[in-house]
Amino acid sequence: MWELYLNKPHDMVLRKVERQPPLKDDEVKIQLIYGGICGSDLRVFKGNLKHASYPIRAGHEVLGRVVEKGKDVKYEIGTRVVLLPNTFCGECDLCSAGKTNICRHKKSLGINTDGGFIEELIVPSKYVLPIPDDVPDNKAILIEPFAVIVHAFKKVNIMKDRSVAIVGCGNEGMLAAVLAHYLGAHVTAMDINPAKLEMVRNLGDIRTAHPNEINGETFDIVIEAAGTRQSIERGLQMVNPGGEMVLIGMTQEASFPVTHFVRNELTLYGSIIYHYPSDFLQSIEYLRDHRFNVNDIISRIVPFTKFREAYEWALSGDYGKILLDFRGGCDG
Ligand SMILES: [Zn+2]
Ligand SMILES: [Zn+2]
Repeated sequence: MWELYLNKPHDMVLRKVERQPPLKDDEVKIQLIYGGICGSDLRVFKGNLKHASYPIRAGHEVLGRVVEKGKDVKYEIGTRVVLLPNTFCGECDLCSAGKTNICRHKKSLGINTDGGFIEELIVPSKYVLPIPDDVPDNKAILIEPFAVIVHAFKKVNIMKDRSVAIVGCGNEGMLAAVLAHYLGAHVTAMDINPAKLEMVRNLGDIRTAHPNEINGETFDIVIEAAGTRQSIERGLQMVNPGGEMVLIGMTQEASFPVTHFVRNELTLYGSIIYHYPSDFLQSIEYLRDHRFNVNDIISRIVPFTKFREAYEWALSGDYGKILLDFRGGCDG
């Protein structure tokens, strides 16, 4: 069996795993179908994430099938599941309040604990969720990244006829544009890369713009998904008086226009990952609706043995989601 292992930033290898420990009573072994490459994987790869630790097995967006289970596990062998790649203790004050996303003891797979890019992954069964049969593999792999958007949208009231700006059209930004459009909002999706804007237009009748084309126009709600100092500072200027902004993207710091903010009674939210399982279940409900068009968000699917090319494409910033297919095995 093989895993994708990051020795240190920029040094990723295929590593052979000789044997795995026997399953504990509450654990499942899942055979991977797809692994999705995400922005945070790229930041760990580049050494740009402060709380990342090395060496580490990469990856956190995982779709697979249960092939073995401990005696206390209720799922049937063969069940298709998606992984919750962030641990929670279930006991701290924040978990008790339902805020598992900011659990005081949270670990994030592929960032500060071993990740999911291994042909057969062993995890406690509380970290996998079964997927209904009518959600195909190429939608199911989006359940986790899309749950991030579902969660962020719960901070604000995105509905018919409200104006919504999406700043940054990476995978999360594209998913946000699709959901805001689906909910009937007037969506403007922005990116500095014309290739990304073209991808967004393929997802639906969505207005796109380079941020430089927005001349003083403001929006009821701004979703920031680019995560640069510039995009955050610019985004704040795009909020209507009385409007709201949700930050999903992350950068170390940005400056904050206090007077503008106070005088216009703006509201700013931070949003990190999702509540589990509620945001995952909601994500599944959207994705199983055939009117919910996300097919074009996936740009390429490659065997996991071609991880070098896959990471290069993802790092180029010119593609949508890149998937690794773990089903083909490896000749060594
Ligand atoms: Zn992700
Ligand atoms: Zn906790």
